[in-house]
Amino acid sequence: MKDRAQILNRFEVLAQDDRVRFEPGAQTQAERVASLLPAAVAQVEAAHYRPFVGAVRIYVCGTEACFKRLVYTPNLAAAVVPENRLILSPRLFMQETQRLNPILVHELSHLHLGLQIGHYDHSVPIWFHEGLATLAAAGGGAEYASDDDAIAAIKAGHQIMPAVRDSAIKRHRAEDWGLNIHVFYRQSWRMVSYLRQLDEDKFRQFLLELQDNVDFDIAFSDAYTSSVARTLQGYYDTLLTAR
Ligand SMILES: [Zn+2]
Repeated sequence: MKDRAQILNRFEVLAQDDRVRFEPGAQTQAERVASLLPAAVAQVEAAHYRPFVGAVRIYVCGTEACFKRLVYTPNLAAAVVPENRLILSPRLFMQETQRLNPILVHELSHLHLGLQIGHYDHSVPIWFHEGLATLAAAGGGAEYASDDDAIAAIKAGHQIMPAVRDSAIKRHRAEDWGLNIHVFYRQSWRMVSYLRQLDEDKFRQFLLELQDNVDFDIAFSDAYTSSVARTLQGYYDTLLTAR
């Protein structure tokens, strides 16, 4: 943690937008983020039906070494770390430039929700966190698995089970469901999309209650007058008979 604070203290504030900070040398990348940020923020606020309630702070790493010292989970392109700091990997400005905008939006969704209810120590299941962020980003974060991959996994008996609480205590990782991480994101995205498609008014009510820190299952049943597991069963039924 001390290490993280030391690195972040060296970051510079971007003159044109003080929401963006950068590792010395990464000003051009930071400027690119600043140019995308207004639309990205608006996209998240529209998807969550509510403005940001706290400061947006984005930290652009110019080197892999910097990113690795700030984000401990391997193989990520971005993450929100303690104190609601959104960290971007240099990969997004080099080999994965097409992912910069969708991943920025995806992480801003995590930040938006986290500023209201905290991160991952709550009743909200991880599949919902990831599905919502991917939905807000119009698929950003779920690019590496297809719908066919998601369906094949379900047919093989590997699917997220919404009846099982998977919050911080257990079953919060893709492998707990027998899924690779990309298929987990894809399934999560499609589950949350289905809930919105089914009835957007109910989805909005549910999501606003959730953001008011109402328990996930209570907020869901208030809006949908059914459990999330029963509601999503309709999704699995149509999915498996359609193919
Ligand atoms: Zn995510």
